[in-house]
Amino acid sequence: MTLDGEEAPARRVILHVDMDAFYASVEQRDDPALRGKPVLVGGLEGRGVVCAASYEARKFGCRSAMPMGQAMRLCPQAVVTAPRFEAYTAVSRAIHEIFGRYSPDIEPLSLDEAFIDVTASLGLFGSGRAIGQAIRASVRAELQLTCSVGVAHNKFCAKIASDLRKPDALVELNEFDERGEPALSAALAPLSIERMWGVGPVAAEQLRARGYATFGDLQLAGERQLVGDFGDGGRSWHRLSHGIDDREVEVDRAAKSVGEEETFAEDIISVKAIEAKLLGQADEVGRRLRAKGLYAQTVAIKIRFSDFATHTHARKLATPTDHTHELRTAARELLAAFSAREWRAVRLCGFAANKVSENAGQMPLFDDGKRERLAKLDDLRDRIRGKFGV
Ligand SMILES: [Mg+2]
Repeated sequence: MTLDGEEAPARRVILHVDMDAFYASVEQRDDPALRGKPVLVGGLEGRGVVCAASYEARKFGCRSAMPMGQAMRLCPQAVVTAPRFEAYTAVSRAIHEIFGRYSPDIEPLSLDEAFIDVTASLGLFGSGRAIGQAIRASVRAELQLTCSVGVAHNKFCAKIASDLRKPDALVELNEFDERGEPALSAALAPLSIERMWGVGPVAAEQLRARGYATFGDLQLAGERQLVGDFGDGGRSWHRLSHGIDDREVEVDRAAKSVGEEETFAEDIISVKAIEAKLLGQADEVGRRLRAKGLYAQTVAIKIRFSDFATHTHARKLATPTDHTHELRTAARELLAAFSAREWRAVRLCGFAANKVSENAGQMPLFDDGKRERLAKLDDLRDRIRGKFGV
């Protein structure tokens, strides 16, 4: 109830759960020799980048998305391991299963991160904090891994909270004034603007150049000033700097489709060259499907000719698949359906897996181990990719 005796609007309770140094922690869990050591997960050769750095490696300044060469110079004693996406996907499924015990309203952001709206579950489990602690305890006991949890009344504050005392912590950001309005301005004021949603390195530089270094600076400037300086982005930064965010947890945000496309610097006329592009895209789509534990029910290719006429050819697969070989075969067949007469210079081509889901479908009864052989090949492909850091 508010002071005026009116019923306050239902207050949401949102958790943001984020695994700590996810890939690196899984590697340390599965290989005791890596525990307590600086570990870099990623590709070593060529353009390899760091997919994840253990906390021991972070002490030396190593970060994910950093070129592996740079990370190795910062921490030459680091152990480098190739990513094992099957293992990460399995853990990801397991943590989602744990989240699902407390609420069906889960919005996954990546393999190791999700928002959970627990508002409807409070009667059953108590408080957001209690649910967050229960999730942390289950992840630790069942998976021997740690996660950090933020608890707040909206997504933005929950995400900020989970990051405040990482690793292995639960932080609550839930303060309200006497009218039941969020009162987080003071708590958020000291945070640096790099933590603001939608602020990457470039925007951060621009903000700092104009004298905005913290959330408090954004609060002081006021909405009108920020809109004048940054347009609509300024309005949302102003609201967020006070901890105001109305976005709902989007339960059905999981990808319905996984695709790749490329616009060429110069048009390509050769069908063989386009086929090679499509096959490369099918490889990449296959890798991404397997990384996410997803299967495609239909596949499509898209060809845009130099006159911008765009053609999409699609087909349903006999069984949902995540196998590169089957995706490549479908890409080849769909391309072959173009007639020589309609073929001309191409400016864009793309390959997509559609109607994507976690359902692998019914195993065919008599396939003589074909699917198993394909799975082994895919595994090899994914390992080689990891190794060479492509
Ligand atoms: Mg994480």
